[in-house]
Amino acid sequence: MIPYGRQSVSEEDIAAVVEVLRSDWLAQGPAVERFEAVVAGSCGAKHAVAVANGTAALHAAAYAAGLGPGKLLWTSPITFVASANCARYLGADVDFVDIDAGTLNMSVDELERRLVAARHAERLPDVVVPVHMCGASADVAAMRLLADEYGFTVIEDAAHALGGHFHDTRVGSCVYSEMSIFSFHPVKVVTTGEGGMVLTNDDELANRLRLFRSHGITRDPAQMRDTSPDPWYYEQIDLGYNYRMTDIQAALGTSQMGRLDDFVRRRNELAERYDEQLHALGLRTQQIPDGVYSAYHLYVVGVEPSRRAAVFAGLRSREIGVNVHYLPVHLQPYYRDLGFRPGDFPVAEEYSAGAITLPLFPAMTDEQQDEVVAALHEVLG
Ligand SMILES: *Cc1c(COP(=O)(O)O)cnc(C)c1O
Repeated sequence: MIPYGRQSVSEEDIAAVVEVLRSDWLAQGPAVERFEAVVAGSCGAKHAVAVANGTAALHAAAYAAGLGPGKLLWTSPITFVASANCARYLGADVDFVDIDAGTLNMSVDELERRLVAARHAERLPDVVVPVHMCGASADVAAMRLLADEYGFTVIEDAAHALGGHFHDTRVGSCVYSEMSIFSFHPVKVVTTGEGGMVLTNDDELANRLRLFRSHGITRDPAQMRDTSPDPWYYEQIDLGYNYRMTDIQAALGTSQMGRLDDFVRRRNELAERYDEQLHALGLRTQQIPDGVYSAYHLYVVGVEPSRRAAVFAGLRSREIGVNVHYLPVHLQPYYRDLGFRPGDFPVAEEYSAGAITLPLFPAMTDEQQDEVVAALHEVLG
């Protein structure tokens, strides 16, 4: 089976992890600080806060943005459930903004239309989470203008997009947003096994993120309620979690970051080959706007919804590990129980009904890709 995604772990990565295992630190320590500095430097953001996984990164970002009961987060219905769940963990409400049929990202026109209506209804969102679908940045510059006009916080769910660019900025730079999050799950662009990170240029947000990652505990006298001369004194000043990353994971991440641009270059090469070869098959592919350089975490195609099940089964039976990204989040039973219904976000539902994710990972060979294309010809022909 050719999988839809796969990590690339080198001998150097393994040596970096083994070195940590022989050191004095295993849990969060100097290797986590180094990894944070490497990712912040690579993206061009001031702060990076490493956490246990991408979901914890979203939870921490939603907390830092001040979400809680009575507050509202909007995201894309075409994403992993965590983009929405992060609001629910904090007791906040969730709504969705439909996607653009070409880019598969949250539609800026639809976002604006919904904001106008929400202003009339006096129920504007507090946080908007654009998701950089498959690694291609949403139009964060346009979203920034709307954020300034309507007063919401932008958290970029960049779980797919490490190594991507939006015009002259690297994804994660937070030039257009308050915070950006990454995931380091093995199928993502860079892995730490499990891991996540929040980036920001705001000192106060970075402080809140670090507090949330570690039980809400501080040893900084400036943040404490009481003063104490005792060197062992600390205070828990809010309710946080143990969301820390280990030095073992961070060492793997730092070593992987050295190959980030190579990973993304190979992903783009393979995507270009797919684009060329799939043209003849009449498959819908994702539109990448001018000025956007995708990290190509995923390569998705659209078939006629009535043919999707047969195409999917035909590919799987030919050992092609296809997948579907994503089932619309609002149609999950948990979200239906909150009142969402089929038809609420028709563009997302139409895309999802025909979606198939093809294999794409840096170590994939041209020959493996040719096998995928040949299988598609057989199944569709
Ligand atoms: C993978 C992913 C997450 C969650 O990351 P984990 O590290 O698996 O918790 C969040 N959002 C999107 C869009 C993702 O693809």
